[in-house]
Amino acid sequence: MAWRRERMRNITDERVWEALNSIPRGRFIDKGYQHNEFLDAPLPIGYGQTISQPSLVAYMTQLLMLEGSEKVLEIGTGSGYQTAFLARLAKEVYTIELIKPLQLRAKEVLKSLGYSNIHYKLGSGYDGWKEHAPYDAVMVTCAPRRIPDALISQLAEGGRMVIPVGPEDGIQMLYRITKEKGALKEEEIYPVRFVPMVQG
Ligand code: SAH
Repeated sequence: MAWRRERMRNITDERVWEALNSIPRGRFIDKGYQHNEFLDAPLPIGYGQTISQPSLVAYMTQLLMLEGSEKVLEIGTGSGYQTAFLARLAKEVYTIELIKPLQLRAKEVLKSLGYSNIHYKLGSGYDGWKEHAPYDAVMVTCAPRRIPDALISQLAEGGRMVIPVGPEDGIQMLYRITKEKGALKEEEIYPVRFVPMVQG
């Protein structure tokens, strides 16, 4: 089984397409859902959280326009599936997760797949990860009501942030924020539905 290109027409970045086809999604999902590995839909990963749908993971990754030299911050490690895309396509990945058992499982899977450029932090993503800032790219996979100031300030000049913003019980908007000469360029991508970014 494999991903079908005609179903993923919005993936035009060859490196992202290659990552999608190289990362074994089955390793990031629970045993009971293995038969759904190639279903382009979100699946439960326990603790009320979900692994996002692959076409969205790939598209959000593409929006970051990674070339291989970047330092990336990710909020919401979850299963680690999105983290694997970032680790393949950028230089260093700093990923933050609030729920310890999820972090431990993601770490184990990502290590077993050979990724050695991922740094893990347990805690709330609202404050970002100041020690390693600035970041060329920031990927947020849980939805805050508004963009946390720390994430804006830790974004490098020319850096891109992809983030869903909105209420926890409704539709959120996916944004790409670009820092250009200190100012922020905001692009609305499309409505999405993510789990809320929990206030630590
Ligand atoms: N990108 C993940 C999906 C993440 S689901 C994947 O590919 O599997 C969203 C994750 O964000 C959950 O694991 C949740 O625990 C985490 N999360 C929620 N609020 C958070 C916060 N304030 N800081 C860090 N992680 C948070």
